[in-house]
Amino acid sequence: TDTLLQVEGLTTELGAAAQPLRVVDGLDLHLQAGETLALLGESGCGKSMTALSLMRLLPPSGRILAGSVRLGGTDLLRLTETEMRAVRGGRLAMIFQEPQTSLNPVLTVGAQIAEAVRVHAGCSRAQVPERVVELLRAVGIPDPAQRAGEYPHQLSGGMKQRVMIAMALAGDPQILIADEPTTALDVTIQAQVLRLLKDLQRDTGLAVLLITHDLGVVAETADRLAVMYAGQIVETATVAGFFARPAHPYSRRLMESLPSADRRSGRLAVIPGRVPPLDRVFQGCRFADRCQSVMPVCREETPGWFEIGAGQGVRCHLWADSLQSVVGSWQSAA
Ligand code: SF4
Ligand code: MG
Repeated sequence: TDTLLQVEGLTTELGAAAQPLRVVDGLDLHLQAGETLALLGESGCGKSMTALSLMRLLPPSGRILAGSVRLGGTDLLRLTETEMRAVRGGRLAMIFQEPQTSLNPVLTVGAQIAEAVRVHAGCSRAQVPERVVELLRAVGIPDPAQRAGEYPHQLSGGMKQRVMIAMALAGDPQILIADEPTTALDVTIQAQVLRLLKDLQRDTGLAVLLITHDLGVVAETADRLAVMYAGQIVETATVAGFFARPAHPYSRRLMESLPSADRRSGRLAVIPGRVPPLDRVFQGCRFADRCQSVMPVCREETPGWFEIGAGQGVRCHLWADSLQSVVGSWQSAA
């Protein structure tokens, strides 16, 4: 399959240069055409900052220190802002958790989608209204011609998120980054919006990077996942592989904290201990203070990345060759 997006060594800091927070640290990921990759983690782990780095939409105090973000043959980090503007909303689009903050309250939804169509779709003026209605229909909005004339406050939360998806689709993107797109919605509406994303994907081959803190959403929607902790990816796996065998102690805690009957429909529970502050240089493993399997080496040496088969990889000393027998024993005990 085709790799659409290839991210290597992405490193992002926030705040004053004298006391920066390293919110994303050496992140690698890739995205294939037509797949959904979930980026899973607790709030504050760097998921949103990863998305904003890929879009080059960091807040003013943020900066990307290192890495590459290749879309096709192009490293987005090397584009000028003008070139990047054409990519953003074009081949690479993003939707956010709170659709109301991204919609302009004084313009009709039709006018806002029309603007996105004019900027990115290259169709003639005369074709724009028709394209707007087509996009509203594509995201499952009933009476699209009439709805186009309404203002955001006239729409429910779910409808607003559908409008945001329609705007994102205006430029015919290859990749959609969705940052907690259903977190603000109730459960039924959430399921409908996730269903819509799956349908769009099937029909268009769109790849989705789905940012979430919800293992249930991962189970229902994603093909693969990457687990993020304190600015780093600590595990990647297929969703089936992950649920069968979570490999990182943090992943295991996330799974164990879900009642077993509820494993595929639960939110991440609270794990004792806290995420380390990101304003210091780390020695050893970032999860050491919360890890039930912590060993002396964990506090001294930063764990490397181990490929453990079937597309699964993990950042943990337990998976070093000499310790695989230990892992084997608690895997079979589980
Ligand atoms: Fe736990 Fe050590 Fe693995 Fe970190 S490296 S997750 S502390 S076992
Ligand atoms: Mg976030």
